[in-house]
Amino acid sequence: MDSWPIGVFASVDAGLGVAWDVISDLKLPTIQLHAPHQEKRNRESAAAFRSQLDAMNVRCTAVFGGFEDESYADIPTVVRTVGLVPESTRHSRLKEMLEIADFSSWLGCDTVALHLGFIPHDPSADGYGDIVSVTQQLCDHCGQQDQFLHLETGQETAEGLIEFIQQVGRENLKINFDPANMILYGTGEPIEALMQVGQHVRSVHCKDGTWSDQPGVTWGAEVPLGQGDVGMEKYLQALKEIGYLGPLTIEREIPQDPERQRAEIAQAIELLTDLRSKILD
Ligand code: MG
Repeated sequence: MDSWPIGVFASVDAGLGVAWDVISDLKLPTIQLHAPHQEKRNRESAAAFRSQLDAMNVRCTAVFGGFEDESYADIPTVVRTVGLVPESTRHSRLKEMLEIADFSSWLGCDTVALHLGFIPHDPSADGYGDIVSVTQQLCDHCGQQDQFLHLETGQETAEGLIEFIQQVGRENLKINFDPANMILYGTGEPIEALMQVGQHVRSVHCKDGTWSDQPGVTWGAEVPLGQGDVGMEKYLQALKEIGYLGPLTIEREIPQDPERQRAEIAQAIELLTDLRSKILD
């Protein structure tokens, strides 16, 4: 595989990525896919998506799980609703994630990812052990089919994430690093965090954002790639430094305005292509 193939976050019927029919127009070699709704998570649909991707010459490098009643409205709502952390939905969502892992395997993809939710910062906190345990169950299911589980970054500090990975203690637990989330959630300076968690990073998002005036309390703003506080050149240099040469997956979630989404993704592809040749050649 060429170093740093560019990709985009895409959707079939669920999630906020670019629409399926846009993938081939972008002429990119890779995508990450938001898992489709439950009725499409079967062998037949997976085989159909797989042959469509093959025909487009596109490789799916990760399938992201998401859940119907999650909301990213504001930070307290994320704490309450996102991932496997909320206790009332944990069991049913674990079951869904196991199905998503199977779907991903039928699609020929060795990576499943998700926002686990707000993991308590202190390992001795109430419920921490249960979150470790549900993550182990999911990792073990993925491991049986030679898959990795990637945690989307953002809600934890670098230290919190490293501690959690150690507590889970599974070789196939890795990180999908999203530099903008660190800024949006106010959890830390992204390049510094990347250098700390580098050895665990197995996929990345290329997304940009600006800091909130109350980091950790209110959202920062997601902005087009290159216009935020991440510093894309520094980010790519840091990726090179930690030895990451896998896909650079652009994530730009403004499905309410597909035209603007496509235009901004086109600019992001141009920016990443320029930086790639500058940094790697
Ligand atoms: Mg992301």
